[in-house]
Amino acid sequence: MTLVLLGLVSAAVADSSSDAAPGMGVVVHEGAVFTVVEERSDGWVATTPCRTEIFLDEGDRFHTADVVLDPGHGGPETGSVGANGLVERDVNLWVAVLTRSELEALGYSVVLTREVDLHMGIRQRTTIANSLSPRAFVSIHHNGGAVRRSDDPGTEAFHQTANTESQRLAGLLFEEVQTALAAWNVRWVDTVHKGASARIRNDGTNTYGVLRMTPDLPSAIIEAAYLSNAPEAELLATPEVLFAEAAAIARAIDRFLTSDDPGTGFKRAFLDEATTGTGTGWNCDDSGYGTTVSVTSGYTDREYADLVAMAARVGHSPESLQRFSIYALDFVHALGGRVALDPLPAEVIPVVSGGSVPVDVTLSWSPAEQVVLTRVADAYGLSPAEAQKLGAVLMVFLIGISG
Ligand SMILES: [Zn+2]
Repeated sequence: MTLVLLGLVSAAVADSSSDAAPGMGVVVHEGAVFTVVEERSDGWVATTPCRTEIFLDEGDRFHTADVVLDPGHGGPETGSVGANGLVERDVNLWVAVLTRSELEALGYSVVLTREVDLHMGIRQRTTIANSLSPRAFVSIHHNGGAVRRSDDPGTEAFHQTANTESQRLAGLLFEEVQTALAAWNVRWVDTVHKGASARIRNDGTNTYGVLRMTPDLPSAIIEAAYLSNAPEAELLATPEVLFAEAAAIARAIDRFLTSDDPGTGFKRAFLDEATTGTGTGWNCDDSGYGTTVSVTSGYTDREYADLVAMAARVGHSPESLQRFSIYALDFVHALGGRVALDPLPAEVIPVVSGGSVPVDVTLSWSPAEQVVLTRVADAYGLSPAEAQKLGAVLMVFLIGISG
C-alpha cells in the first residue's frame, strides 16, 4: 500500500483546463444556465452563474443554439431604474423572454443567459454564449442617464470594433427597435450615441465585456430606450410596448440571419473606457444550486480505530480528515497542471461495503465539493466511496509516518 500511495504523487501528462468550455454547451435548470465543463454518465460538471464548478445531474441540455439572448443585469445589479419603480434587470428579462418566443416562432433555437432574476457577471454571460456558438448574440438593455430632449427614441446599439457582421447586426437592431418604438409619441431623450457604434478603450479593444469577450461571435448590445426618462419608463410598463420591442429585436435578428441588409444609424467608433462598474459578479452567491449527496464508505474496526486515532492526533474529526484528504489528493492530482493517472491495481482498491467493513462512515458533499470528489475518483479509477476511503487511508498513513 505504501508504494502505491507514494506512486499517486508521481504520474504525468497535462490534460484539461477547467475554465471556459467553448462548444460544450449548457444545461438549463430552474431558470439558471450552467456551462458544461465535462460530460459524465451521471450528469455534468458545470459552471454556475457565479462561476463555481458544481456537479449537476438534472436540467435541459443544449449543445448549441441559433441565437443567444442576454438579459442584462440581475440580482443586486439592477441596472437603470425608472421613476415608476421599474427596474432594468426585470425589463431586460421580460423583453428577452418575449423575443425568444418570437424567434422560436420563426424556427430558431434560442437560449437565454438567464431565465430568472439572478446575479451573474459579464464573464459568465460570455462563457455561456461562447459555449453555444450561436449565429448571433444579443445583450438586451434599457438605458439610463440621458436628459437631452429628442423627437424620436434615443435607441443605441453597440457592435464589436472592426467586425462588419457585428456592425450589421447592431445596425439592424437599431433600425428595427427605433422604428418600432417611434410608433409611440412621448418626450423621448437621447445622446450623441443614438444609432449604431463601437465604443472602444484606449488600446482599441471593445469597452463592453459582452462584445470584447465574444470575439468569435457576431455580438451586439441594444439599449432600446431610456428607462431613466419617466415618460419612457411609463411606456416600458406597457405590455404592448414590450411586445413591439421584442418583435423588433426578433425581426432584426431574423433579417441579420437571412439577408444582407446593412442596417442603419451608423456612427463613428468613439473612445470611452468608462463603464457603469456593474457586471463584475462581485459578491456573487449561488450556493443553492445542485444537490448535496451523501457518500458512505465502510471501514473495518481496525481501520476506523486508526482513523479516529490519527484524526485525534491532529485535532480533527474523522469526517473532516476524510474530507481534507480528498482535497489533498486533488492537489496532488493538480500538481504541475492536471495529471493523468493510471487506475489503481484492483488489490489496493479499498473495500468500502460488505460484511468485512462493519463501520459505515457517511460524508455529505456539496455540489461544488462533488466536483473535487469525482475528479479524484476518476483520476484513480475509483468510485466516490472508494476515493473517500482511499483518502482517509492515505491520511492515516501520512500522519502515522509523521510521528
Ligand atoms: Zn444595462
